[in-house]
Amino acid sequence: MQRNSLSSATIVSQINNIDIVLYKGDITFVEEIAIANAANSSLLGGGGVDGAIHYRAGKQLKQECWEIFKKEKGCKPGHAKITSGGNLPAQYVIHTVGPVWHNGVRNEDIVLGNCYKNSIIVAEKNKISGLIFPSISTGIFGYPVEKAAEVSKIAVSSALENSKFLKRVGWCLFDRVTYMAYEKAWSTK
Ligand code: ADP
Repeated sequence: MQRNSLSSATIVSQINNIDIVLYKGDITFVEEIAIANAANSSLLGGGGVDGAIHYRAGKQLKQECWEIFKKEKGCKPGHAKITSGGNLPAQYVIHTVGPVWHNGVRNEDIVLGNCYKNSIIVAEKNKISGLIFPSISTGIFGYPVEKAAEVSKIAVSSALENSKFLKRVGWCLFDRVTYMAYEKAWSTK
């Protein structure tokens, strides 16, 4: 069933009794407890998925991000910070800052893996049962999508081994090419 520009979730795997799911469409319509945001270091909003999340979440999200910016100078690449979801269907947004792609010579794979691992750590600390990511870094930040899908699969799989609260984790992918890259990554061992 389609709801606005969002497909229903497809379960592509299970790790530690946690369903791994893929949605296709706009993450701002995802009705899970938490979504992740591919933010920039200031956390004060940007383009792409960040812009869409801030637009639909409204003023409260901006205010909470502004507080994090003042107190903690935003968020470093690979780290993750939590806010409420404002007007989004999701109750929480976990903001993480992906690496900018520099041909793979600046530990981009490690930083991208850390985005997923640290977001999962934040979700567990907050007893969150469902978390859906966008395809971090593969838009404006230029990370090749097939590589990103592989790196994120490895990072998420290892981070979920010790999870207690998460029951559903996955991605909401905006376009067909990105969806197919993640579907392919999860269909291979
Ligand atoms: P980054 O700066 O980390 O590359 P972008 O927002 O530019 O982040 O892109 C990350 C991914 O998010 C891309 O695949 C882009 O197509 C996708 N995207 C953009 N808007 C949305 C949205 N509303 N919902 C889900 N994914 C989105």
